[in-house]
Amino acid sequence: MANATESNFEILEGYYKKYPDVPKETILKQHMLSLGHWFSDAALNACAGALVKSYRLFSYDLVPMSYFKRNEHRRVPEHFILMNGPDNMRPVAIQTSLAPDSPYLVDIVDGRMVLTVDGNVVCDVRVPKTPDYYSKNLPDGTPYHEIVAFASFITIFRNCQYWGAKEECKFCDINENARQMKLSRDFTLSAPVKSVEDVVAVCKYVAEDAKKIGAGQGFVLSGGSITKTLHGKNEADFYVPYIEAIKNLDSKPRITFEVNARPKEEVIRYKAAGADNIHFNMEAWDRELFAWINPGKAERVGWDNWVRWMEDAVEVFGPGQVQPSFVSGIEMARPHGFKTVEEAVKSATSCFEYLMSRAIMPRPQQWRREPSTALCKEAEQPPVPLDYYIQMTRNWYETYCKYRDKLPKFGTRKGGLLAERNLLGPVHGAYGDFAMLKENLFPTDVEEQINRRSVPWENIDGGSHVQ
Ligand code: SF4
Repeated sequence: MANATESNFEILEGYYKKYPDVPKETILKQHMLSLGHWFSDAALNACAGALVKSYRLFSYDLVPMSYFKRNEHRRVPEHFILMNGPDNMRPVAIQTSLAPDSPYLVDIVDGRMVLTVDGNVVCDVRVPKTPDYYSKNLPDGTPYHEIVAFASFITIFRNCQYWGAKEECKFCDINENARQMKLSRDFTLSAPVKSVEDVVAVCKYVAEDAKKIGAGQGFVLSGGSITKTLHGKNEADFYVPYIEAIKNLDSKPRITFEVNARPKEEVIRYKAAGADNIHFNMEAWDRELFAWINPGKAERVGWDNWVRWMEDAVEVFGPGQVQPSFVSGIEMARPHGFKTVEEAVKSATSCFEYLMSRAIMPRPQQWRREPSTALCKEAEQPPVPLDYYIQMTRNWYETYCKYRDKLPKFGTRKGGLLAERNLLGPVHGAYGDFAMLKENLFPTDVEEQINRRSVPWENIDGGSHVQ
């Protein structure tokens, strides 16, 4: 069986042949998320004017920030789009995950921004332009984009009270990422908590910008867990005023709320405040792996409560509106994860069957193996075999098809300030793309919409040439 560490152009082609029923775009995306990717000097220069990576929650990089000698952390895009090229790829968006030793290099070849593997051009790359609101600052100098990243994501509490080895989720570098952002002095936001007033001011501005182009607007409210109190409030009392204040904007934005699984009484409060869907991010499905990987969640909530409260939340939010994230591939983390692809896929598939049959939408987001996390300190963590990611996603889609009448639809949204975030699948995982690609759910003008909102990608000086 081919292994993801052997990545090169031939191996990628080998996977395309091995899984003829799986879109090439899905295979490529999963490999890139697993191994990370890097930018040449010419590509970094060509990213001027891009929507710069926000480091809003986790770092999603396979090396620490101190490694960056070209100021990469303030130059690379939040995500980028792969499309066209020799295989005529349809568009998929990739969350930027820097890894200098990855075989995947974004480069400039013959004046075009492209993705290469071992020097072979695989496809074109588009990098999203910065939305206008990124140049605005609050009166205290805080940039708007440090309040609302990529026109939708708000990390209200920038730390997590699951602290230390006994509580922090073992794949998570939120606390370390905040620390390295501070150390770098390249980010102005130092307060861990954003005020309701600041958040609302920026959301209002962003929502109005979206309205000008006839797009709807949604916000994702996220942040670390509050296990005790924050500013004298428990988790629900702390977060509810934010949800209410954002929902009260004239445009009544759609609100997604990410939080610990909580009993129904509390969930009713989130819904009443204005949340439209809720992400009780469970991270790992297998009962034992859940306890190992999420010690804080296991201790304070527990597997049984987590699952029961997700089911209860469907009664409050409705079918398809409870959407837990899973750190996919973590099932194979060393030393306690599954040893074989078969066992790991089986566990993930049983998760999809259990949840989807109950109208809960599991979202597999790819594990990035960030170096300062407990998992990477505890053991060497080689890339998860690509076979796992491909088979897991294929099974996700098969299960989705079985229960799709009670789950969210794909391909129904209008382009927003960043077209690709609305019109393509999510940037961290390949499940949404799989449905989009299999069923050809892209709007007919998707490329035009993406091109219009991208930095220049052709006739670029510098870079190399194909002989
Ligand atoms: S709950 Fe877990 S994953 Fe979320 S921020 Fe806290 S430690 Fe990280």
